[in-house]
Amino acid sequence: MMVDTSRLQTTSKIQIVKADCSGCGTCVVICPKRAIVKGRIFLEWIASACIFCDACIDLCPTGAIFETRIN
Ligand code: SF4
Ligand code: SF4
Repeated sequence: MMVDTSRLQTTSKIQIVKADCSGCGTCVVICPKRAIVKGRIFLEWIASACIFCDACIDLCPTGAIFETRIN
């Protein structure tokens, strides 16, 4: 089944709280779309790649990742 992510991408956002992140790298490894990558300073979330499967949220051991609605 094809999932239309265009609407989700305009209404939701994955946020990673730097202060809560242990740097374990789990989210980078488990994201099925490689939508979380190590940036120069901190992790970066790539909106255009994310399918909002919530795996990163569920598996982050410190609860540093959450999803917010933009509007
Ligand atoms: S919600 Fe899923 S696709 Fe989006 S960044 Fe997290 S693990 Fe990757
Ligand atoms: S899974 Fe959580 S604690 Fe680990 S690197 Fe990602 S945001 Fe940081």
